[in-house]
Amino acid sequence: MARDRLADAKDYYDVIVIGSGLAGMTGANKLAKAGRSVLLLEQHYNFGGMATWFKRPGGHIFDISLHGFPVGMIKSCRKYWTQEIADSIVQLKGVRFDNPQFSFQTTFDRVDFTSKLVDHFGIAPQTVEDFFNAARAMDFYDDQAMTTRELFEKFFPGRTDVVRFLMEPIAYANGSTLDDPAITYGIVFSNFMSKGVYIFRGGTDKLIFMMKNALKQNGVDLRHSVCVDRICVEGGRVTGIEANGRTIACGAVLSNANIKTTIEKMVGEDKFKDDFIAEAKAVRLNNSSCQVYMGIRKGETLDNIGDLLFTSVDPEFDSVRLCAKDVTSRTFSMYYPDIRPGSDRYAIVSSTNANWDDWAYLSDEDYANEKEHLIKTTLDALEKYIPDVRSKINHVEAATPKTFHHYTLQAQGATFGTKFEGLQVSMDLPKQIGGLFHAGSVGIIMSGWLGAINYGVIVANEVDSFMHTSEPSHSKERAAS
Ligand SMILES: Cc1cc2nc3c(=O)[nH]c(=O)nc-3n(C[C@H](O)[C@H](O)[C@H](O)COP(=O)(O)OP(=O)(O)OC[C@H]3O[C@@H](n4cnc5c(N)ncnc54)[C@H](O)[C@@H]3O)c2cc1C
Repeated sequence: MARDRLADAKDYYDVIVIGSGLAGMTGANKLAKAGRSVLLLEQHYNFGGMATWFKRPGGHIFDISLHGFPVGMIKSCRKYWTQEIADSIVQLKGVRFDNPQFSFQTTFDRVDFTSKLVDHFGIAPQTVEDFFNAARAMDFYDDQAMTTRELFEKFFPGRTDVVRFLMEPIAYANGSTLDDPAITYGIVFSNFMSKGVYIFRGGTDKLIFMMKNALKQNGVDLRHSVCVDRICVEGGRVTGIEANGRTIACGAVLSNANIKTTIEKMVGEDKFKDDFIAEAKAVRLNNSSCQVYMGIRKGETLDNIGDLLFTSVDPEFDSVRLCAKDVTSRTFSMYYPDIRPGSDRYAIVSSTNANWDDWAYLSDEDYANEKEHLIKTTLDALEKYIPDVRSKINHVEAATPKTFHHYTLQAQGATFGTKFEGLQVSMDLPKQIGGLFHAGSVGIIMSGWLGAINYGVIVANEVDSFMHTSEPSHSKERAAS
């Protein structure tokens, strides 16, 4: 019989966090540091959600979502995690583009982008300056009517090459399209431009290990392999959760599961007002991803061809083509031995944006064939940069939207949560049900490692003040338990 991971759990916690993605773990850590008793429940056997890794025979280790994040991660990790975690974050200096419109390497920061825009693309320096300032000035309370397409048209009319340079990496980083509100582009682009692209040295396994240790030290009760079935609500207020056939009471729930799943499946539509449910149902999910993991045989080496390689043979940037099954636009993340100090191993991960519908409904045979095709076309594309790469690889496998859904239960394997409208629904949740909160990828801007961590902190502060105002009744319950 499977072990009951909740066997010795308490009957009451101040806060139950559902899901150990970066938003869930950060929220749990913040609440525990504020003195709350916290139970963190994760359905998978590993913590981290999309921030994860896996091992394969032959000494291979692959990171799933450790390709790059903005410098803001250093400050967030120092403030909300530990100095040691912050100290392991290092810059990736070799970001390379290669497509029919341009081919060069950049440090992916404002200084180098300005010089590329002026010297390579021939844009007037003042226009570049105005564009950067416009992108930087965007915040959540701005007019959200302008789309990214309109933003580009305003500054760089007719320049599809400039649009590709500015947009393609951000579309990989947050799944936004030219038709999303310009703020979803402006915020994320400006975050990267401030100082470039950063990575966690030591790998995702080390990061999550360090985060788990910090959580334990701060008193969080961590349980893996526990899938929460239901969030219990009585009289318009959260009372607890149900998992493994057991009910555990709490003062508040912070759900890190997908926002739509939280509302529609874990709570139930009947517990919300009709207009809120209509709004929640209208929230669109963001795209998913495909990846190909390529392990280099022990003893083989790779020349440095850059850290991140944005490559495509499509004539222009196209948001729809970027997710298509026969996509040619992909990011190669190169993992040289220094990513895991002490290791002498190399790995390559190719990532493409993808649509759930293109993969979810294939027969088993077609699914296997399509994965093989993805692997073959990826290796073909990589041979342009490393001609003998096939002979160096001794492990290769692919992941699809179904894979990401399977491991995180994210609806439709959504890599970046929901489109912009999901953020308002997430923020309004506690106004519908007392003590019910959500933190996790929503609204495009609250996704990615940095967005998820920062949103976890913002929502944890709200949970803490909710607990503060409802303290008397809960102290009594706690005393009784
Ligand atoms: C292929 C890929 C590449 C990426 N690359 C990057 C990158 O380079 N840089 C970057 O910044 N971001 C990247 N991202 C995005 C980033 O990883 C995510 O935005 C972020 O990790 C999401 O964190 P989260 O807290 O929102 O949720 P998630 O990571 O989705 O975590 C949610 C957690 O909740 C758990 N859960 C769900 N339902 C239940 C339940 N009922 N009971 C218990 N547990 C439950 C899940 O198992 C999961 O652990 C990438 C993502 C993917 C998929």
